[in-house]
Amino acid sequence: MPDRIDPARLRALDRAHVWHPYGPMPGRQEPLVVESASGVRLRLAEPAHGRTELVDGMSSWWSAVHGYNHPVLNEAARDQLDRMSHVMFGGLTHEPAVRLATRLVEITPEPLQHVFLADSGSVSVEVAVKMCLQYWRSAGRPAKRRLLTWRGGYHGDTWQPMSVCDPEGGMHELWSGSLPRQVFADAPPDGFDAEPDEAYARHLRELVTSHADELAAVIVEPVVQGAGGMRFHSPAYLRVLREACDEHDVLLVFDEIATGFGRTGQLFAAGHAGVSPDVMCVGKALTGGYLTLAATLCTSRVAEGISSGDVPVLAHGPTFMGNPLASAVACASVDLLLGQDWELEVKRIGAGLRRGLAEAAGVPGVRDVRVLGAIGVVQLDHEVDMAAATRAAVREGVWLRPFRDLVYTMPPYVTGDDDVARICRAVCAAAKEG
Ligand SMILES: *Cc1c(COP(=O)(O)O)cnc(C)c1O
Repeated sequence: MPDRIDPARLRALDRAHVWHPYGPMPGRQEPLVVESASGVRLRLAEPAHGRTELVDGMSSWWSAVHGYNHPVLNEAARDQLDRMSHVMFGGLTHEPAVRLATRLVEITPEPLQHVFLADSGSVSVEVAVKMCLQYWRSAGRPAKRRLLTWRGGYHGDTWQPMSVCDPEGGMHELWSGSLPRQVFADAPPDGFDAEPDEAYARHLRELVTSHADELAAVIVEPVVQGAGGMRFHSPAYLRVLREACDEHDVLLVFDEIATGFGRTGQLFAAGHAGVSPDVMCVGKALTGGYLTLAATLCTSRVAEGISSGDVPVLAHGPTFMGNPLASAVACASVDLLLGQDWELEVKRIGAGLRRGLAEAAGVPGVRDVRVLGAIGVVQLDHEVDMAAATRAAVREGVWLRPFRDLVYTMPPYVTGDDDVARICRAVCAAAKEG
């Protein structure tokens, strides 16, 4: 083992050499140095605002649903490590990938039968888009190669996913000329429980109808738009999209990378609407936050369509496709989730968030407070002061990562009631001081 680098030196090297998400170089904000993590707690290498331990309110961006250093997931990783950490997927296969793909087919909506294992969420969206474009190319309709989505979405940071992110938040202006130009509907009206807006449903139908000849697919995040703005909408619009797509020969893609594995109160958010997509992406919580892995699932119709074309293969194959270590941990994580009453845990956390965030509604500068599943959001009427909000949360002993006008949390499902209450105090403090 190399000698440990002391935290101050580590921060200096970090600033000098290491990019962080959406960051400048050299970095302007001092990141906290995490030394280890266990359960729902991150242990810091040096105290910050009097704290050396922080309760994680972010699940490391939706992924660590079982918390950190989980004995079952550790065991799965160790066991697989002793067999092989990786082996190429071209011409070879192995039990972890086959087991995982089979499991995913079992637990996702019935028509989804085939699985492409990708190495990150963005890549799984690229693969989903490639599947749809290639499907229509094989069907002799190559003009169907554009995508339709609604504003306010987020689908990842590589080029095709970026092209369907919210045009403003996604900075499409900056990339005009480089990004594929997609068709944008207005953002869905707010409110999971809101009465569906018939005018908006008509707007969706009209756009699908008028662009049908050039549309390969509609791609949306079902029910919760995550990194595009943490907004919730009525599942009824997913049914509208399903019907319009069926009527006009357009494929439907659900990006469940954030919403999958129980976060919204259904195992997959599509379950709220009772509709199934032609193609679906999962990622983030797939490995319980242990390793990078995502998957694109499709129906037999899509797979057979692609395979009957003049290029009868899906032309994609990442080096680390089907990584055995990640696949083995993913299998263990899915089993761990389904082996417990996860619905009850998500409901329990949702109730705790509702209770604890209620007081934020009265805070000056707060525009909206909303909770769905195990997701809690406080929206401000101004851009959050990230440094001040982070400091306020850390003082409460909680890790949060606000963005734009949002202070939000999606705790690990194993977070106890006292820790949920603590997270809520931190969100309220961050909303006040941010
Ligand atoms: C995070 C996210 C992605 C991108 O996944 P990465 O693993 O970060 O590439 C895509 N879609 C949605 C809905 C996401 O939340």
